Amino acid sequence: MNLLDLDLQKCIHCGLCLESCATYAVALEETEGPRGRLALMKAVAQERLPLEEAAPHLLRCLDCRACEAACPSGVPYGEIWETFRLRLERVMPAPAPVARWRRLLIRSLLPYPTRLRVLALLWRTAQALGLTRLAAWLAGLRPGLAVFAETAAAHRVQIPFTPYGVFSPYGEKRGTVALFPGCVQDAFYARANRATLEVLRHLGFEVHIPREQTCCGAVAYHTGDPEHARELARRNIQVLESGPWQAVVNHIGGCGAMLKEYPRLFAQDPHWEDRARQFSVMVEDATAFVARHWRPLPLKPIGPYRAVYVDSCHLRHVQGVKEPPRAILRRIPGLTLVELEHPDRCCGSAGVYSLTQPRMALDMLEAKLEDVARADPNLLVVANPGCALHLERGLWRKGWRLPVRYVLEVVAEALPSPEFS
Ligand code: SF4
Ligand code: SF4
Repeated sequence: MNLLDLDLQKCIHCGLCLESCATYAVALEETEGPRGRLALMKAVAQERLPLEEAAPHLLRCLDCRACEAACPSGVPYGEIWETFRLRLERVMPAPAPVARWRRLLIRSLLPYPTRLRVLALLWRTAQALGLTRLAAWLAGLRPGLAVFAETAAAHRVQIPFTPYGVFSPYGEKRGTVALFPGCVQDAFYARANRATLEVLRHLGFEVHIPREQTCCGAVAYHTGDPEHARELARRNIQVLESGPWQAVVNHIGGCGAMLKEYPRLFAQDPHWEDRARQFSVMVEDATAFVARHWRPLPLKPIGPYRAVYVDSCHLRHVQGVKEPPRAILRRIPGLTLVELEHPDRCCGSAGVYSLTQPRMALDMLEAKLEDVARADPNLLVVANPGCALHLERGLWRKGWRLPVRYVLEVVAEALPSPEFS
């Protein structure tokens, strides 16, 4: 596909997107912002610039798509960059051992909940034995290990894991939904899934959690393995496209965006594109669904909390879900919601970004935590496991004991549910 056909020329260079770009905010250089990156891609596409010269600036893009949401000209930045990135992966592939390991990990771990759960249990055991703190200390000597070691020290694995099966509503039934638990979310933030289940049941919904679901494929797609992403997408569509449910809900900003954008994976395959399109219409973020179906619940006062909500970029900018999580939080007695100065800027997590661009990811994390500190909260509320792990790592590095919870975990805490009280 010719990149110039992909609306590159729609950019009128107004610069209205710069304020929302986290890499531009940190680097303050044109080549580290959306306008500059679009100009670089255009120059490469027109063969005025070698790809090798543009690549370092392009690869520092988070694909957070804040610029796309801010653009008045409708430049489809995500689609342009993702198409360009696949080409870049072909022309300048990662070194063979890195690519092999990455592929092996993504293909043999993320689609298998049991393997991920075993990893989570090993993680938890290592934490109980104090090994993760030791690893984090050793990582000070080997910076390449820092992301893994510090994250392992910072995050406390949550068990029990997400249950599979069919769960009846509490009281009169209003409808039926399927819950997509995710892969990393299921292994490391299962409490958020269990809270989502609890809130949906309190709202009168029967909830189905089919065991046959798998990873959404976002990590495979964003690391240059679209074929594997398509395999996972086909499986999820087959499992979830038909059933007694009216919606497929998830409490994971990044995975939800991927499920909604499945049709793009099948642009060359009309049969699957059509099925993906019908499926994606059913996908809805859990906070959007809950806000839409809200009814008075027996919420008790909690906290008191002064809470900051950190948007998931793919929830806010790609799925367009900005207000529902805020509206839900404002309904909880005992909770005061405080806004960040720059709620639209990415925290630097962005999938595997903290592994591929560790310095830049840390700079953005630092900027986000400075913004959080100015709001002076005693609770941090999130909507995506990648953001949660990244923020927990940053808090751990600062020795800042600030609890991190999902939106619906906070609702569950206010419900008469013994597990969450
Ligand atoms: S996707 Fe995010 S990081 Fe990339 S240019 Fe746009 S705003 Fe900046
Ligand atoms: S991408 Fe959009 S907002 Fe950014 S400079 Fe181009 S036209 Fe303006």
